[in-house]
Amino acid sequence: MNISSSLKIKQGCNNVPILKEKGQNEVFCGLTGIIWLHRKIQDAFFLVVGSRTCAHLLQSAAGVMIFAEPRFGTAILEEKDLAGMADAQDELDLQVEKLLERRPEIKQLFLVGSCPSEVIKLDLSKAAERLTLKYAPNVRVLSYSGSGIETTFTQGEDACLASIVPTLDDTSQEELILVGALPDIVEDQFLSLIGKLGIKKVTSFPSRTKNKAPKVGKNVKFILCQPFLGDTCEALEKRGAYHIKASFPFGEEGTTLWLKAIAKAFNVGENKFDEVTNGPRSRATKALEKIKQKLSGKSVFFFPDSQLEIPLARFLVRECGMKAVEVGSPYINKKIVLSDMELLPEGPIISEGQDVDLQIERCKANKPDLTICGMGLANPLEAEGLATKWSIELVFSPIHGYEQAGDLGALFYRPIKRREVLQI
Ligand code: SF4
Repeated sequence: MNISSSLKIKQGCNNVPILKEKGQNEVFCGLTGIIWLHRKIQDAFFLVVGSRTCAHLLQSAAGVMIFAEPRFGTAILEEKDLAGMADAQDELDLQVEKLLERRPEIKQLFLVGSCPSEVIKLDLSKAAERLTLKYAPNVRVLSYSGSGIETTFTQGEDACLASIVPTLDDTSQEELILVGALPDIVEDQFLSLIGKLGIKKVTSFPSRTKNKAPKVGKNVKFILCQPFLGDTCEALEKRGAYHIKASFPFGEEGTTLWLKAIAKAFNVGENKFDEVTNGPRSRATKALEKIKQKLSGKSVFFFPDSQLEIPLARFLVRECGMKAVEVGSPYINKKIVLSDMELLPEGPIISEGQDVDLQIERCKANKPDLTICGMGLANPLEAEGLATKWSIELVFSPIHGYEQAGDLGALFYRPIKRREVLQI
């Protein structure tokens, strides 16, 4: 496939006016990120400093772990803490002491702020500094906010990774960092392909353990694997690293453009690139051909939730033949999603933020074949006769890269098929 010819489109969405809405919004909070981060970072523990509501959210989202002790928990702020009648910092120190005594395998402890801890202005960064002094070098204590005040669920990962960046060691070597928590199987596929391109020094961030963390410096280049990592991107740039900008690796086209951007940054020749990618590219194209027959011509509406909306809309429109009606995203950071916006053909409403009632009306008026939305909106929209897909599922599932391209398309077809079957 010739990439440059595939890029010829009439007009992308990068210059269309964005509908900005600031009304009631329906999103999960950043604590949700702990569900996939605690699986990815194997020597970490996430201690949420929050309420019983926060503990319930985590418990119900993560399910019950039978075979292993979970690597997250909640230090519950009781009424006396909230009323300022007890020194919450002292109590926190006590809880951390008990936890680290009982779990010596923990090497990184994240104190995660919540709505209640922010409301009572509990300074977790100070607590993290104090506890790091106490437990270093064995345990590193960091803090970030997972609060639902003005944030969306994928921002928890961004805040977590951004909190690690200042602790990364310096290097003067030329290295590549893949930024964003990917399922291990996808991470291994990318590392293998990039290794075959001849780029030898590649690390993933977050690393599976503290001692495998990437190093950072002026000769380090990084590429984002997820579009919701704006703060992490800025923090790495502040440390001197170079941001390789690209479309996100969803589908055959997205993955090729993403790898191509890496290849260009590391001076890998075209022949080498084709030699390494031709096989997986044709597997991805073949897998997508089947699903394209099913999705082609169907309409899709994205409610803002995960910040994956623009790259996924690009995938569904260009690689699966769908028609996007509206593509809503909680935030649109053009520095990060520009390449995908340039490729997404002009036509859908591009909206940022949310006024949920107005957006539901637009959705109902358009009667899309598929609606991607948060869990809270899915059931009411299904009751209205719309086929829905939870956007959170797209963060939990392996969807990046060539080998997952067909599965990614199939994830979007499943709800449409279910509704078609129910209507017969
Ligand atoms: S952080 Fe806020 S939004 Fe999230 S569960 Fe706790 S109270 Fe609810």
